[in-house]
Amino acid sequence: MNNSKIWLSSPHMGGNEQNYIKEAFDSNWVAPLGPNVIGFEQDIEKYLEQEVFVGALSSGTAALHLGLILLDVKAGDEVICQSMTFSASANPIVYQGATPVFIDSELETWNMCPNALEEAIKDRISKGKKPKAIIAVHLYGMPYKADEIRYIADKYEIPILEDSAEALGSSYKGQKCGTFGDISVLSFNGNKIITTSGGGAIVTKTQEIKNKAIFLATQARDNEPHYQHSEIGYNYRMSNICAGIGRGQMEILDKHVGLRRNMHDFYKEAFQNKEGIKLFSEPTSDYFSNHWLSAITIDSAKCNRKTREDLRLLLESENIESRPLWKPMHLQPIFSESPYYGGNVSENLFNNGLCLPSGSNIDANEKDRIKNALNNF
Ligand SMILES: *Cc1c(COP(=O)(O)O)cnc(C)c1O
Repeated sequence: MNNSKIWLSSPHMGGNEQNYIKEAFDSNWVAPLGPNVIGFEQDIEKYLEQEVFVGALSSGTAALHLGLILLDVKAGDEVICQSMTFSASANPIVYQGATPVFIDSELETWNMCPNALEEAIKDRISKGKKPKAIIAVHLYGMPYKADEIRYIADKYEIPILEDSAEALGSSYKGQKCGTFGDISVLSFNGNKIITTSGGGAIVTKTQEIKNKAIFLATQARDNEPHYQHSEIGYNYRMSNICAGIGRGQMEILDKHVGLRRNMHDFYKEAFQNKEGIKLFSEPTSDYFSNHWLSAITIDSAKCNRKTREDLRLLLESENIESRPLWKPMHLQPIFSESPYYGGNVSENLFNNGLCLPSGSNIDANEKDRIKNALNNF
């Protein structure tokens, strides 16, 4: 039997990507600007269904960095950040010379806990420093508690930088993720719901802020015939070749969201009546997840003492990739000195949780292999 590797999440082309790339070559727009960049930005703006402005960038990390700059985060400032996330959510805080303040998750969406958030804001203010921004993340495509987080952010007048890197195609109360932040961020890395091989985007509420983002992303050149600079710039713009891939991917985004959601249904069936294993699912019908990754938590007391690591190794022996949930930032060696608010929700999730193969390109034979391996557990 074919035993090729089954990946957690691998690129899945729609078919038109190469046509857009060919157009770029034929017209010699082989540069970090051009018709595909403009077209890709317009495709995303239309998809998000809100009055937003999209700037295509070289990565989601670059978008987060520019987002912090546009929210005026400077050296010595504090920025609140969800602890359970990929390190790219937090690293740009340090690029700015600012300090991250990490917040625990709640159990329903695994995202930023509103109670711990408010506790942190009050405590930081009482210590003399009001946080400059809040980085909230939609983990694995699951929308965070957008109403509660927005209510607290507005109450203390702190802007939200929405990290929607994993959540293009998700929505909350019918509103698309990527439109909840004062500034929002998308990623098109190779493992994301759609890919440009590598890339990201910043989503803003005004044309003016988008223009400022593009200005900073293209080396901050003043409007002069010679090269003149009054600000520090970056080389963060997206290539017209990558944007061509993105245009092809936008054509099949909703179809691929459907296929990822089918993978979630596949696991729902596989774990039906399996006591001790819980599939991560939407808490209410307000939430619509793209199910970028399907994830489970294992209660080893109810699974003959078997742990998520036992399952991971069993899957690995069958050449099936799986991975523990994101290790919270407050438990990372590099952030061990950073302030942290909350309990041990994210720590427990990390200890007991596992992400399973979730790609939109997993075929029936591969599903059988996954199912057999899970049954052996
Ligand atoms: C992927 C990811 C990023 C970074 O995006 P890149 O395009 O890889 O730089 C940021 N935050 C989260 C939550 C991510 O999953």
